[in-house]
Amino acid sequence: MTFEEELRTTVHPLIDGHTHVDQWSPGDLEGLLERARRANIGLIIAAGTTVPSCERTLLLAEANSFIKAGIGMHPADLTGPLDEATAQHLHDLATHAEVVEWSECGLDYMPNSPDKAIQQDALRVQIRMARELDLPLVIHSREADPDTVRILIEEHASDVGGAWHYFGGSMYLAKQAMDIGFYLSLAKPLLREEPLQAVVAQLSLDHLVIETDSYPQPFKKNPLRRTEPWHLPQVAEKLAQLQGVDIETVAEITTTNYLRMLRGRVALI
Ligand SMILES: [Zn+2]
Repeated sequence: MTFEEELRTTVHPLIDGHTHVDQWSPGDLEGLLERARRANIGLIIAAGTTVPSCERTLLLAEANSFIKAGIGMHPADLTGPLDEATAQHLHDLATHAEVVEWSECGLDYMPNSPDKAIQQDALRVQIRMARELDLPLVIHSREADPDTVRILIEEHASDVGGAWHYFGGSMYLAKQAMDIGFYLSLAKPLLREEPLQAVVAQLSLDHLVIETDSYPQPFKKNPLRRTEPWHLPQVAEKLAQLQGVDIETVAEITTTNYLRMLRGRVALI
């Protein structure tokens, strides 16, 4: 299969709500953005994971009209407690006009992840900063859902809302997340995971957004298999199938949802 044969497009532009495009070399990024344009991606959000990564997402957003930046510290990237100076640095970066959300932060309880208490404190500090700046939160939660939900509630994250990134959970978790004002952000697992498909088929499109979570995947031999924003219409297509609607309906509603979540910070051209 060639790129042209695999390419799906929508008339209504899609928003790739979560990517790590700052991790590409500038030369390779050019090709990625060109392929994204061919797929009619109207906006790409570059999520930050560390201070240097956040600085890069900001530079990218300044240089590209269809990239906007997220600022945040990824739980798996914490090397110790989130100290005051680093938090202040993130806060300062987040006041920039190109920043549209606090992204990404959360909890990651994989075996080699940082200490749980350190992660939880860092999440609380970041929720407080997001609330102070009125930025929606994009949440990472891996093997940690009950703690993530509890902290979001305790820290009043519903004041700003946001998206539950890479949603792969149960109907119970979906309801908990929606109850506190979070959209569920669906990525490529939707293409293959049947339990997730069964949950998503029962949800209202009004609570759903889509993303690719793109990051460089040189380990995949076939470049067409390396996840990039141009794969996003595949997620939209599967979502349309599960919901029994056409892909343009999915494009229109998920894009509207995302723009609503950003509360007018971005308008698509
Ligand atoms: Zn991410």
